Amino acid sequence: MKQSQFPLILYYHRVRDFDETVDVGLSISVENFENQIQYLKKNYNIVPLDSIVKKMRNVEPSSLTDIAITFDDGYKDNYDNAYPIIKRYNAPATIFLTTDYVGTNKLLWWDKLIFILSRLNPEEFKNIPFRDEIFPERIKYMVMECVKNIKKGKISLLINELKSLGSSKREFILNYLEENYGERVGINSIPRTFMSWDEIKEMSNNGVSFGSHTCTHSVLTEISYEKAREETIRSKRIIEEKIGKKVSAFAYPDGCLSDKIKNIVEKSGYLYAVQTFRGKIYEKADLFSISRKMIKEGHSKNIFRKFSKSLFTIELSGALDQLLLRKSRTENPYEKNLDRI
Ligand SMILES: [Zn+2]
Repeated sequence: MKQSQFPLILYYHRVRDFDETVDVGLSISVENFENQIQYLKKNYNIVPLDSIVKKMRNVEPSSLTDIAITFDDGYKDNYDNAYPIIKRYNAPATIFLTTDYVGTNKLLWWDKLIFILSRLNPEEFKNIPFRDEIFPERIKYMVMECVKNIKKGKISLLINELKSLGSSKREFILNYLEENYGERVGINSIPRTFMSWDEIKEMSNNGVSFGSHTCTHSVLTEISYEKAREETIRSKRIIEEKIGKKVSAFAYPDGCLSDKIKNIVEKSGYLYAVQTFRGKIYEKADLFSISRKMIKEGHSKNIFRKFSKSLFTIELSGALDQLLLRKSRTENPYEKNLDRI
C-alpha cells in the first residue's frame, strides 16, 4: 500500500514520557515512538536523509515509500530513548545538533520559560514589580496566567507571542526571568538536557547521521550576516572535529530562512538544508529549503490514547495538514508557528 505520494522527511524533537498538560507538542512518548517506527519499518522504506537528497540532486525519481527520520536540537532523550529503538529496528536517522548545548544542562529558551513559570509561586511572583519597559502589558498578563496555572494552551500562546517579539526582546525577557527567578527554581541544578559528544560519537558509529542546527539556536533571519555565518561555519567545524566525518546537512532553527540565509548556508559548505514546513517534495526541489513533516504525539493516538495505524496513515498522507493549515489561518494564526522550533 502506498501511503504517500512523494518521499517524506519526518522530524521529531524529544522522545520521552512527558506531561501532556504542559508539553507544547515537541515531545512524543517512548511507546508511541516505538509503535511509529515499527509501523514505518513495515510500510515504508526508511532511508538515510542523504539518500533522499542525493536522488533529488541527481533528479532521480524517488520511491514513493522512501521516508527519512530526523530530530532537531539534540536532546539527551534522543540518545536515551530514541536511539535504542532506531537501532533495534535498524532505522537510519539524522540528528541536527545545537553545538553550544551539547553535553550541557542548559535549556533552550522555550524550555527555560516552561521550567521557570511552572515552578514559581504565584503569590511570590505577584509581589515583584514588573518593569513596563521589559514586559509589554500583554506579555505580563500571559506570564502571570502561566504562573497561576500553567497549561499547554496558555504556554503555547505565550511562546508564540514571544516569538513574534523577535530575538533580542525575547532574550531580554528570558534573561530577566532567569536572573530574577532562576536560582529560586533551581535552574542551575537540573540534570544534563543535551546529548554528550561521547553519546554522539557512539551513535555516529551506529547508523545515526549528524547535521548542524547552529551553535546557539539563533533564528538566522534575525541576526547579522556575520553572526549568521559564524553560527553555520563554527557549528559545522565542531561537529566534524568531534565525529570525524563530513557534515553536509543543516536545519534552520525555527524553520526561518531567506535567500540571503540560504546563500550563507551553501557558502558555509553544506550540501543541503531542511526547514520545518510541510510541502510536497519534487525531484527538482530547492536543496536549501527541503520540506519536512513534524510528527506529534497525537498524530498516531486515537481518543482512547492508543496507537492507531489508520490515524498515522492519514497523518502521513498529508491530507490533514491542508485542513489544519486552513483552520490555523482562520482561527489561530500562530498555530503553525508552534512547529517551528
Ligand atoms: Zn530547533
